[in-house]
Amino acid sequence: MTLFSSSFKGPRAFEAPGTFGSTVLNATKTPNAEIGHEQNPLEPVTTRTIVVTSGKGGVGKTTATANIGMSMARLGYKVALIDSDIGLRNLDLLLGLENRILYTAMDVIDGQCRLDQALIRDKRWKNLSLLSISKNRQKYNVTQTHMVQLVTQIAAAGYHFILIDCPAGIDVGFIHAISPASEAVIVTTPEITAIRDADRVAGLLEAKGIYQVKLLVNRVRAEMVQSNDMMSVRDVQEMLGIPLLGAIPEDTQVIISTNRGEPLVLKKKLSLSGIAFENAARRLIGKQDYFLDLATPYKGIFQKVHDALLGEKRP
Ligand code: ADP
Ligand code: MG
Repeated sequence: MTLFSSSFKGPRAFEAPGTFGSTVLNATKTPNAEIGHEQNPLEPVTTRTIVVTSGKGGVGKTTATANIGMSMARLGYKVALIDSDIGLRNLDLLLGLENRILYTAMDVIDGQCRLDQALIRDKRWKNLSLLSISKNRQKYNVTQTHMVQLVTQIAAAGYHFILIDCPAGIDVGFIHAISPASEAVIVTTPEITAIRDADRVAGLLEAKGIYQVKLLVNRVRAEMVQSNDMMSVRDVQEMLGIPLLGAIPEDTQVIISTNRGEPLVLKKKLSLSGIAFENAARRLIGKQDYFLDLATPYKGIFQKVHDALLGEKRP
């Protein structure tokens, strides 16, 4: 199904779903899936740098970065989140770290502080850190070279994952944010405007040599998909021809968690969107079998929602 003209015919040259992330950390060599498992300091670390991007603004990049990053940290990986939005930072708010930022990447570049002083550690999961590029829009003169240097330094500090939260738009901020990444997650909502912009971004990523790209479809409303008032996740995925990382339902809990500065995935009793983000994180790590496949006793309801999100009907 194609509702808009695209420079791409058929599936993109991106990797097939099963092969996404050739640099995927082998689960047996990594801190593994035990929550809170400590990294063996003697083990060499392969760092994956993933940019979370979109064409259209406000589709959920920052929400996805905070929740996927927090999930990965809970699974025992060392994760650094980079807020590459300047002046309009909000990743710190979603993580509840807004009062703890003393130094930014600009200060590291200017030689005012060390990298570890600018990397703010989450109090709940100390293997999760946040780096803000700048607190002040006027002071923004981070170049692509700086971005690559920062990421190289973070990687040298033993991080498994670096997630870069992209600023809105596709201008210079976008180009800088994607420059150190070798993988990308494109976030879109199931709306035609967002999908067209996602397609544009996919083309730009490909042109920049970023081929490992996955799709996260956010704010899906199962009841609207069922009544044919919203495109299903499968429709969106087929239109874009990008392997699917996950589908996140529309959920008022997202707004509550944003206001509390506590990512959804930290809740004891996970909401459906929390589970969806956690599954997306597991798939990004390299565990392929996590969509919204939810264990009993919830299986009945969740399977229905899963099918509705994907636009499938069961007998
Ligand atoms: P971006 O970083 O792409 O600009 P944000 O992550 O800041 O987008 O999200 C934009 C708004 O949408 C925020 O107010 C956020 O709370 C809301 N939002 C994001 N995802 C969902 C969701 N799945 N359900 C409900 N609200 C959401
Ligand atoms: Mg944002």
